[in-house]
Amino acid sequence: MENFDCVVIGGGMVGAASALSLAQLGLKVAVVEKFPAKAFSASQALDLRVSAISLASQHLLTQLGCWPQIRQWRCCPYKRLGVWESDTSYVEFNAQEINEENLGHIIENRIIQLSLWQQISNHVGITLYCPESLQHIEQHEDYSLINLSTSQLKAKLIIGADGANSFVRAQAGIGITGWDYNQSAMLINVETALTQQDITWQQFLTSGPVAFLPLPGESDLGGYASLVWYDSKEKINQLSAMSNKQLQQAVIAHFPKRLGSINVIDKAAFPLTRRHANTYQNHRIILVGDAAHTINPLAGQGVNLGFKDVKALQTTIADAIASGKSWHDPIVLKGYEKLRRADNLLMMSTMDALYATFSHPSILVKTARNTAFMALNKLPFLNNTVKSKALAYACGL
Ligand SMILES: Cc1cc2nc3c(=O)[nH]c(=O)nc-3n(C[C@H](O)[C@H](O)[C@H](O)COP(=O)(O)OP(=O)(O)OC[C@H]3O[C@@H](n4cnc5c(N)ncnc54)[C@H](O)[C@@H]3O)c2cc1C
Repeated sequence: MENFDCVVIGGGMVGAASALSLAQLGLKVAVVEKFPAKAFSASQALDLRVSAISLASQHLLTQLGCWPQIRQWRCCPYKRLGVWESDTSYVEFNAQEINEENLGHIIENRIIQLSLWQQISNHVGITLYCPESLQHIEQHEDYSLINLSTSQLKAKLIIGADGANSFVRAQAGIGITGWDYNQSAMLINVETALTQQDITWQQFLTSGPVAFLPLPGESDLGGYASLVWYDSKEKINQLSAMSNKQLQQAVIAHFPKRLGSINVIDKAAFPLTRRHANTYQNHRIILVGDAAHTINPLAGQGVNLGFKDVKALQTTIADAIASGKSWHDPIVLKGYEKLRRADNLLMMSTMDALYATFSHPSILVKTARNTAFMALNKLPFLNNTVKSKALAYACGL
């Protein structure tokens, strides 16, 4: 049986980042992941699963040594963020307002994961078990036994980074509070007649928002983009059944004119759920990322929150090591939840408030929404304070 300081279950973006950040503290770490990652080649089509990576997440990926590789493979920076409901209420945020070069980058999830795995494979302090799967956890006073499909590991700390339907969470007996939203989301990769854009935008429609995320590279038509279409589950089911040609017509009819001409390349639908673990810790088991919280993707914050968890866990353990405490003591580990729970809850509640406000059919609520947007543009005092504060919050600063 192999002995580790930490065993991370789940080698997705958040699990892989957790493993690296703890190995940076000199801990001996194992990562257990079900599925091997496919190597990158520049000729591969852009993947459907992309994330808007905030400046705070970029800082973490830099600290973990991944950023130069991500930049070299592919990613798309954006400087501007446009939000509106009716055409007269358009608000634009600009990186200059917070003295930054960019507001963030749109990156394929698998590129982020692969860059982290590359660092993991170069790190002598990390062992990757893949393809492997967690079967059972036994918690003892000072250590845990982790039974995998073909081996058994021993660890002082287990990190559950195994996503929204976390098996670690279930094994730790941690309950959740949550619900499914009435809407679903369809991700659609398209070729655009416009070349690579430096803006990401979102229009709030009564049926649900529509969003544009620029993607890197040049296509035969011009550029690439990832579109997100939020709508009722029935409507998203209808769209899923369409051919790419039919979907293209539906997108052109539904999205704002500024999108221009497009060709649909790929599409997939996703349910929208909200889940919050009732606690992030049971003794020496800690939850991070989607295993701890699954958020409405409306403002693209899910993995950004997960990366903030990673940073908070690293800080909690680093402080304990520096002050000579037992870093895996459950009382020390409580510091992690203290750092993260309120922040995650605030972001989840903000997304719920946005979702509720923008899906409200009342004409009075609609007028109030548009007035608020217009005030952001027209009143200089509001403009400087509210806008830059909202922007810094969205960028994780
Ligand atoms: C439509 C949509 C759009 C989104 N857009 C954004 C965005 O723009 N920005 C953003 O920040 N977030 C976004 N998100 C959220 C983001 O995708 C998630 O927050 C993120 O993927 C969570 O990462 P994770 O590593 O915590 O979990 P996951 O990505 O779910 O990874 C979990 C890993 O654990 C492995 N695993 C599971 N069970 C086991 C087991 N028993 N044994 C071993 N391994 C196991 C899985 O194979 C997987 O690799 C979006 C989500 C959706 C649905």
